[in-house]
Amino acid sequence: MQAHDGMYIDGAWRPAAGPDKIEVGNPADGTLLATVPAGSAEDVSAAVAAARAAFPGWSATPPAERAALLGALHAALESRREEIAGTVTAELGSPLGFSRAVHAAVPVAVCAGYAKLAAEHPFEEEIGNSRVFHEPVGVVGAITPWNYPLHQIVAKVAPALAAGCTVVLKPAEDTPLVAQLFAEAVHEAGVPAGVFNLVTGFGPVAGQALAEHEGVDLVSFTGSTAVGRRIGAVAGGAVKNVALELGGKSANVILPGADLTKAVKVGVANVMANSGQTCSAWTRMLVDAEHHDEAVQLAAAAVAKYVPGDPKDENTRIGPVVNAKQRDRVTGYIKRGIDDGATLVAGGPDAPRGFEHGCYVQPTVFAGVTPEMAIAQEEIFGPVLSILKYEDTEDALRIANGTVYGLAGAVWSEDEEEAVAFARRLETGQVDINGGRFNPMAPFGGYKQSGVGRELGKHGLGEYLQTKSLQM
Ligand code: NAD
Repeated sequence: MQAHDGMYIDGAWRPAAGPDKIEVGNPADGTLLATVPAGSAEDVSAAVAAARAAFPGWSATPPAERAALLGALHAALESRREEIAGTVTAELGSPLGFSRAVHAAVPVAVCAGYAKLAAEHPFEEEIGNSRVFHEPVGVVGAITPWNYPLHQIVAKVAPALAAGCTVVLKPAEDTPLVAQLFAEAVHEAGVPAGVFNLVTGFGPVAGQALAEHEGVDLVSFTGSTAVGRRIGAVAGGAVKNVALELGGKSANVILPGADLTKAVKVGVANVMANSGQTCSAWTRMLVDAEHHDEAVQLAAAAVAKYVPGDPKDENTRIGPVVNAKQRDRVTGYIKRGIDDGATLVAGGPDAPRGFEHGCYVQPTVFAGVTPEMAIAQEEIFGPVLSILKYEDTEDALRIANGTVYGLAGAVWSEDEEEAVAFARRLETGQVDINGGRFNPMAPFGGYKQSGVGRELGKHGLGEYLQTKSLQM
C-alpha cells in the first residue's frame, strides 16, 4: 500500500529524524502492507514546536472560520470514505462492510457534528456581574489506539480544533496508514500549517515523549488502562490537563420479561463486531436463572453465523484480530476460561480451520461463568462472550458493577422505565436501553478505571477548553 515516508509537521511531509521504521502488517495473512517511520523524541519536539508556533494564530481565529475549516475537513474525509474503509480493512483486518459502515462513516459524522458545534458553541457567557470566557487549553498531545483508528483520531482532533487548540497526534503503531490519510485530508482542507501535526511511532518512544513534553498542555489518551495509568501519573506530576478513555468489561443485563431473542442476538452481535475489539463491548451477558439455558442456546445459534472470513470479502462478518500478540492474548483467555471451569458453548482456543495463517480467533461463547473468573473480570479484547446467571435484580446489579471498569453497558426490559431505573444504578458512563443506537454527539467516557473525562459532542469540546471569568 502507498504510505508516506515522513511525518506531517508544520504543514508538510518531512523526513523523520532517525532511521527507525514501523512495519505495518496485514493481520488476515501476515503479509507486509507498508513501512512508515517510527518517530523519536526529536520528531515529537519538532511537532510540538510547530503546534506551539501555530497556537496564537489558530486560537485567535474566529470560531466561525474554524468551523468552516472543519466543514472542509469533513468534505475531504467524505470524499475519501472508500479509501478509508479499504485502509482500515487492510491494517486492522475489519470486514469491508463494517469498515464502510462504521470505521469510515462514524468519523465523517463526528467531524460534521463538530463543524456545526464549532459555529454554535457559546465560547463566552455572562454569569451575574462576570463575563466568562471558554478558551482553548493550548497544545494537545493526542495518543490513540488501533481498534477504531480513525474514529479515535477524529474524536480528539475535531473538538480540539473547534476549541482553538493545536494538536500533535501519535496514532497506534498497528494502524498508522489511516492516520496518514487523515493528515492528507487535513492538508487538503486548508487547515493552517502547524495546527495539526502527525508523528507515527511506538508508544514507549514517541507516545511517551509526547506525554512528557513540557510544550504539551493537555494529553488526551485512548487506550489500555495500564498505559493510561502511567500517562495520568506523568500528567499529574507536571500538572497538565489529561483526558483518559480506557478499557471496559461491560455488562449486558437482560431483565426477566425482556425480549430474550432480540437481546441475545443484539448482544452477540455487539461482542463479535470488530472481532470483539471494542472498548465498550458487552462482554458479559447477565441472564436470570429461569431464562439462562434458553439464552445460552440462542447465543450458540447466533454466534454460528459469525464464520471467519477474508475481511476484503463484502459478505464476511468476522475477520482476524489486529495482530499475533492480540491473537495469543485472546486465546490465552479462552484457555483460562476452560481451566477455570466455565462451559465452552462455541469456539475454543484453536485457530478456525483454514485460517491458521492469519491472526484469527474462533468466535467463542462461555456459559456457567462466575463473577470472580478472569474471563468475567478482565478485558479480553477479542470475540469472547461470557454468559453469567443471576438470582434477582439486586444480584444482577452487584455482578454488573463488580469489576474495576465502568465504561458502558446495556439493559433490556419490557418496561422502559424499569430499564432506565436499573441503568441509573449502573456505575458506567453510558448504557444502551433495549438496543438503543450509538449517538455520535452524546458524551462518551468511563466511570471508575475506565477513564477520566468525556469525548464527543459538547462535553467532548469542553475537554479542550479552560475557563476564565472577568468580574465587572
Ligand atoms: P495501548 O494502551 O497499548 O496503546 C494505545 C496508544 O498508546 C497507542 O498509540 C500506543 O502506541 C500508545 N502507548 C503505548 N505505550 C505508551 C507509553 N508508555 N506512553 C505513551 N503512549 C503509549 O492500547 P491499544 O492496545 O492500542 O488499544 C486497546 C485498548 O484501548 C483497550 O484497553 C481498549 O479498551 C482501549 N480503548 C478505550 C476506548 C475508550 O473510549 N474508553 C476506546 C478504544 C479503546
